[in-house]
Amino acid sequence: MTPPSPPDDRLAFIDQELAALRAAGTFINIRTIESAQGPTLRVNGRDVLNFCSNNYLGLANHPRLAEAAVTAIRRYGIGPAAVRSISGTMSLHVELEQRLARFKGTEAVLALQSGFVANQAVIPSLVGEGDLVISDALNHASIIDGVRLTRAERAIYAHNDMGALEERLREAAAKNHRRILVITDGVFSMDGDIAPLPGIVAACERYGALSMVDDAHGEGVLGRGGRGITDHFGLHGRVDVEVGTMSKAFGVVGGLVAGKAKLIDYLRQKARPFLFSSATTVPDTAACLAAVELLEESDALVQKLWANARRFKAEMKRLGFDTGRSETPITPVLLGEAQRAQEFSRKLFEHGVFAIAITYPTVPQGLARIRVMISAAHEDRHLDQGLAAFAAVGKELGAV
Ligand code: PMP
Repeated sequence: MTPPSPPDDRLAFIDQELAALRAAGTFINIRTIESAQGPTLRVNGRDVLNFCSNNYLGLANHPRLAEAAVTAIRRYGIGPAAVRSISGTMSLHVELEQRLARFKGTEAVLALQSGFVANQAVIPSLVGEGDLVISDALNHASIIDGVRLTRAERAIYAHNDMGALEERLREAAAKNHRRILVITDGVFSMDGDIAPLPGIVAACERYGALSMVDDAHGEGVLGRGGRGITDHFGLHGRVDVEVGTMSKAFGVVGGLVAGKAKLIDYLRQKARPFLFSSATTVPDTAACLAAVELLEESDALVQKLWANARRFKAEMKRLGFDTGRSETPITPVLLGEAQRAQEFSRKLFEHGVFAIAITYPTVPQGLARIRVMISAAHEDRHLDQGLAAFAAVGKELGAV
């Protein structure tokens, strides 16, 4: 019997999927940046105020980082040419890990290719069949995917709700799991609120569960001189696993896991992205090292970031905008429906401000927003320009 004739275009389903995204208004239009990352960006040949990058400390185009990368390239070349466990571990990687461990006040650190990868590395190494993961309802996609790579059972607790976490732990206590891992974002990227980590850690200690925090948006932002959420809450030695990124405040790209030396030794044996994906490049690693050195020398950039964030949020409130529950430089400007947020973003762009709209399904329906990312790279005149644009567009659209 001959099989039925195949369709002419076996990729036709992609046309349908893309059309559906466009119809739903959720198709992502990706803008191309034609300049270095800074307080302003060149987009479509036009200089616009940058209100949407994670360049918290302005390090993405810092001369010290660029110089460190160039110097390292001259000495070591570009590529690591292997995974870390074969011949890809260069002295720069080891130096970066030791430097990060000292900076963060932790026994050891494992440097990985990105924050996303760090979650894929650590979660499946720690839990599997017979274990349970308890996760905050608003945890980042990279945590969700890391959990999906395991055969562990999953439970969710309502966002930042310590009563709900306690309940999940109590339910679990009756079930005899081999291990329980509780995971939370440190700073939640869409709202800018901070996880109640002392409560989470204490609950884990009471129930014998492992605690894990993904501090992607707290690295270089929270704690003394940007040492992160564990330092912010004075929880040194009590958080079992801290994941971080060097792709945001550190201005480069890369991920990290910080914790006890035996945890890091174990991950070097077990973590699949460490074992099966090549190491970070020489210039990336050297630039990350320069970023840590810079933060060890001075907290001036962290102070400036927070001063900018405080000023921007206070003035936005004075203008009548709702910035939700943010406690960090991430500033959501709540606008209601998706269309309104998208129109707001378009009009801001006309006023020379690049700030993106975040809509369902990334945030719940009716809670669409512009997410403003404040940076130490912003000077007062940049904040003034942004505030004036928000005031003008807010009036135009009747949002304030
Ligand atoms: N975790 C969280 C909480 C994040 O917000 C992000 C970045 N969006 C990541 C992980 C991923 O970090 P990276 O860009 O270094 O892969």
